[in-house]
Amino acid sequence: MIELAPDISFKKQIEKISGSSLSTCMQCGTCSVVCNLSPDVKPFPRKEMIYAGWGMKNKLLGNPDLWLCHQCGDCSTRCPRGVNPGEVLAATRELSYRSYATPGFFGKMLSRPVLLPMALIIPVIVIAAIIFLAGTLEIPDGPVNYSRFFPHSWLNASFTLLTLLSYSFATIGFRRFWNDLQNSGLGETSRKRGFFTSFWKVKNDILAHNRFTKCESNRGRQLAHFLVFYGFVLLLIVTLYAIYAAITERYPLELDNPFKILGNLSSLMLFSGIGIMIYMRIAKKEGSEKSSYSDWLFLVALLLLTFSGVVVEAARFLNWSAAYYLYFFHLVCVWFVIIYLPHTKFGHVIYRTLAMTFAFSINRK
Ligand code: SF4
Ligand code: SF4
Repeated sequence: MIELAPDISFKKQIEKISGSSLSTCMQCGTCSVVCNLSPDVKPFPRKEMIYAGWGMKNKLLGNPDLWLCHQCGDCSTRCPRGVNPGEVLAATRELSYRSYATPGFFGKMLSRPVLLPMALIIPVIVIAAIIFLAGTLEIPDGPVNYSRFFPHSWLNASFTLLTLLSYSFATIGFRRFWNDLQNSGLGETSRKRGFFTSFWKVKNDILAHNRFTKCESNRGRQLAHFLVFYGFVLLLIVTLYAIYAAITERYPLELDNPFKILGNLSSLMLFSGIGIMIYMRIAKKEGSEKSSYSDWLFLVALLLLTFSGVVVEAARFLNWSAAYYLYFFHLVCVWFVIIYLPHTKFGHVIYRTLAMTFAFSINRK
């Protein structure tokens, strides 16, 4: 028996984010039929359209099928009523990760434009305070050397600590999400595989971005996601090496250092991936994603992070007078993307991985 617990405000939130009128759905089921990712048993997104139309929050927030959808838009293109089920699932995913954000305040702060100044002021104040404590809060004379403004030991220690703190809290939310996946009513006949076995299997799908290849309406998304994903992975590898180089006093890196070349390659990949994503959103190609505030916040933050990283590098080699201000701005961007990661759209990478792992564990293909 399905427990009905309608929440009309939840329905209205979905409608507001997705721009869809849920009452227009006539439950024809076309969306589930055309979806190449939907399983044969209890297919999506038709059932989610019922849940959304009834404001059944408890059936949606921890629903693994939300995350099996890769927002290709095939269902939205074919929906005879113009309801845009793909957008409805995207909006529900957004409400889902917001609800699991821990502490909850981060979820609110990063989803409301009116709270954007606060989301920016927090890193500005904290970073300035750390530099002040390091005793270097002034613009140094002479050739640009960022470590004289923010000593690398302070930078590495403080950002590592803050990132670990943010992710430790976020893990509480991931744990709640995992529990809700298990109570979602899918796979009630008990799980067939363990977490690690399932994760090991789905990782190939995730790394190869295989599921995007099944989309028909919106093929450019696979390339864009691929470039952003691997551009970011490369950037993380380069950052880890930079920390190691700073500890062993080999920093800054010269232009011909292999890790510097890798860093520039990752910037190129990120620019290209983000560029395709922004183009597809602005051009609003048929079946492409519509854009919510959270979508734009993530894209603009990642773009500014990449752009400011390149500018900061140029400022060091060319000894620009504004170098230290640009560097400070870059650090705020780093905070925004890395430390806030679990609570922004970037958190998809974790929620989707968990949901795909769960789906595999219950043999939901
Ligand atoms: S969302 Fe559209 S395609 Fe899906 S059941 Fe409703 S009317 Fe049919
Ligand atoms: S957007 Fe694509 S993957 Fe998602 S439900 Fe629709 S057809 Fe399926």
